[in-house]
Amino acid sequence: MPDRFYIIGGGPGGVGAAYAISKAGFKPVIIEVHDRLAVKPCGRGVPVTSDIPFVIPKSIVLNKISYVKLYVDRLKLFKAGGWLNGFIIDKREFLEHILSETRADIYYRARYNHKSGVARLGGETIDVRRGIFSGGFPYYEGERIPVVQYILGGSLGDVEMDTIEIYFDTEILGYYYVFPHGDNVEVGVGGFRDHNTLWKLLDKFISEDSRLKNSIVVEREAAVVSIGGLRLGYINGLVKVGEAAGYVLPLTGEGIRPSIISGYIAGEALAKGLDPIRELRRLRLSEAISIQRRLLEWAKRLSVEERRRLISTLTPQAHAEIALGYFRLHKLVQNLIFKPLTMVKILTKIIGL
Ligand SMILES: Cc1cc2nc3c(=O)[nH]c(=O)nc-3n(C[C@H](O)[C@H](O)[C@H](O)COP(=O)(O)OP(=O)(O)OC[C@H]3O[C@@H](n4cnc5c(N)ncnc54)[C@H](O)[C@@H]3O)c2cc1C
Repeated sequence: MPDRFYIIGGGPGGVGAAYAISKAGFKPVIIEVHDRLAVKPCGRGVPVTSDIPFVIPKSIVLNKISYVKLYVDRLKLFKAGGWLNGFIIDKREFLEHILSETRADIYYRARYNHKSGVARLGGETIDVRRGIFSGGFPYYEGERIPVVQYILGGSLGDVEMDTIEIYFDTEILGYYYVFPHGDNVEVGVGGFRDHNTLWKLLDKFISEDSRLKNSIVVEREAAVVSIGGLRLGYINGLVKVGEAAGYVLPLTGEGIRPSIISGYIAGEALAKGLDPIRELRRLRLSEAISIQRRLLEWAKRLSVEERRRLISTLTPQAHAEIALGYFRLHKLVQNLIFKPLTMVKILTKIIGL
């Protein structure tokens, strides 16, 4: 057994792995191509669930989320509290905080070459053959969709700072979001359209919202998110985790928590001499990602009207369970607000009951 494990990537997946490896008594060595952690643009929303392997410290919380407002095609469905609680976090500070509790060495501006399997660290060429690969979406082989977002400041109208707003758009099979971000606001959209179209849609969305239209742009960010489901395996002997392995919930695009958990589980398995792929497969989160992927596939086949009716007919409880990935398919039918025959038929078609 080596005394150190290499980890490619200083995002949530890599840092989750470093934490587990350090806890097991080994030295994690992180190789990060940028000069800092958490470079990927992100909405920074993390739900409160019991499966994150460490406590989220208050010092890195920008906003505490207690309410969710849901809209479908601009019509309000509900505002609800008590479920889907979470935080908007300072992602970089969060990852730095976790790393400060480990014995990790981190090399910045160090690139791992995934074709040759080598990295240059401080003038030395290292053959990296065992460890964790968490290089993010560029290495993911499944379906990806664009997400674009602004951080807006200045003159913001009456945006509630303890609430996230989700606006499903059944045409693009995606959603707009309005998240608080400290005293600012993050507004974005992701869906089945190209980047240019999403920017135009987002600009229109903002111009039509009286609270946002006089704000100023603090940041403009875009990236893609891997929503094609799990692609477990190895790159040059390194175990893929995080977004590189598809650890994103396909219906919501949530990737911070899944990446951390997958990194942690794979890192722990490696350090204990277990089979990391088997351990990852056993995760309830892995099952949740696969089920959400199936739901997304089926949703693509529904008409816009059927999608609208389906989303409108689910109870807040069902929305929360689906969003977090922790639900049983057969319970979905029980969780419809009303059970009109057509909705039961659509759901039955979707989930194959
Ligand atoms: C606009 C947008 C909004 C989002 N909002 C949310 C949200 O609100 N909540 C949420 O949970 N998720 C959100 N996500 C998803 C989330 O950001 C990602 O799923 C998550 O960051 C993935 O973590 P990761 O560690 O797998 O990869 P990344 O965070 O992408 O980290 C990968 C790291 O590897 C490094 N790297 C890559 N290649 C190499 C190499 N060859 N050598 C060395 N280093 C390398 C990169 O520099 C990077 O630091 C959002 C995504 C987008 C695009």
